[in-house]
Amino acid sequence: MTDSKEDFEPHVEELFEALEGKVPKETLRKELDTYVNVYGIGLGPAKSGIVKKFGASRRTGVSGAAGVTKKIAELEGTEMNVTVVAKMVFVEKRAITVKGSPKTIISGIAGDDTGTAPFTIWGDTGDYEKGKVYAFRNAYTKKYREQIQLNIGTRGKVEECDDVSLDVKTSADTAPTEMKIGEITDHTGNVSLTGRITEVEPRTVTVQGTEKTIWGGIIADDSGKIQFTAWNDFNLSNDIVVRVENAYVRAWKGIPQLNFGERATVTRTNADVGTVESGPASKTVEEIVRVGGGLDISITGTVVDVRAGSGLIRRCPQCNRSVHGEECTVHGHIVPVNDLRLKATLDDGTGAISVIILKADTENLTGISLAEAEKYSKQKGDLDAVASRMTAAVILKKVTVTGNVMSDEYGPQMTARRTELVNVDVDAEAEKLYGEVEASL
Ligand SMILES: [Zn+2]
Repeated sequence: MTDSKEDFEPHVEELFEALEGKVPKETLRKELDTYVNVYGIGLGPAKSGIVKKFGASRRTGVSGAAGVTKKIAELEGTEMNVTVVAKMVFVEKRAITVKGSPKTIISGIAGDDTGTAPFTIWGDTGDYEKGKVYAFRNAYTKKYREQIQLNIGTRGKVEECDDVSLDVKTSADTAPTEMKIGEITDHTGNVSLTGRITEVEPRTVTVQGTEKTIWGGIIADDSGKIQFTAWNDFNLSNDIVVRVENAYVRAWKGIPQLNFGERATVTRTNADVGTVESGPASKTVEEIVRVGGGLDISITGTVVDVRAGSGLIRRCPQCNRSVHGEECTVHGHIVPVNDLRLKATLDDGTGAISVIILKADTENLTGISLAEAEKYSKQKGDLDAVASRMTAAVILKKVTVTGNVMSDEYGPQMTARRTELVNVDVDAEAEKLYGEVEASL
């Protein structure tokens, strides 16, 4: 928590500049302190709130103010007016839709000698060249999933700096961090660890036209397990314990995956990695959100919502996509097949996660079979009637779901391989709760 006044000083300076020196620093310091420490608002929103509050009567915003210049590693995700001098590591034009209208933006990765950051230029569609150095002026930053993003809005501009040469520090150059497997997230860079290989098998892939053998498997310790890919032959076999130095992490849909690449060393060791759990790892939603996703995870929570797309649904027999009517977006006119599914929101007290429950478990959980569901919907003349009945059967029930969790822009989602009802002893729970209430009096 930010509670010391000193921590605020750079932000007060920044606000002072953003408001063109028209609001005394003492006032800004007090405002910031109130918003952050009294109201508990995040630093970023507090700062933009203050600018809106004091800037509203004049020309709102940050134009004219020079802003501070920072290195990428110094960015905090709360800057409202910052200049970054960086090389275009990657740049592309993208067509997006804003409020129904098509718009072109420019996005990519910018890098300097301290690190790299993704950027988006919202305001113009000029041409930028990969490998050239630019000054990103009057930019603002945001933090999304622990990553700082640089944004250049309509007030910002990006100018070429011919005279500046920069060596970009990429994540490959950073020293590996020693970690337990369970601590690895989709934002982890280079990592060193010790673990037991619980699964490994060779695979043939084609890299730049040449066939190459790689090894894929699972490595585990007492904190968790992770999928790995070994890009060289490290002589791996089942059930050996290895010391891995300088592996790197890449995430696929939020699921972190470990890579033993060019720079990695893998050696056998007799180190104790604790007890490696063979079954699924039990996690809280909070833990999953922090990591981004994972394989073979189980979560116990309460069904707090059953969302649209649940109950009796129709699928394309060729691609299994859910369809409305008799049209598949890929296969055109088809004869759909009926299926059952629940799209549930599960809350375990640390957070909520979206869970897809497939036919067999949906039948078990709701006590309604596909045949019954078909009959019922025919009776009612309505597909949704089934969803309502199913919702009533599962809402506020406690369940344990097991499966892989992946993340996209809507957050983490599990497709449950298995769903089990947890029998709650209502009397015992009530007694426990009563005891806790009494103890707190
Ligand atoms: Zn289809």
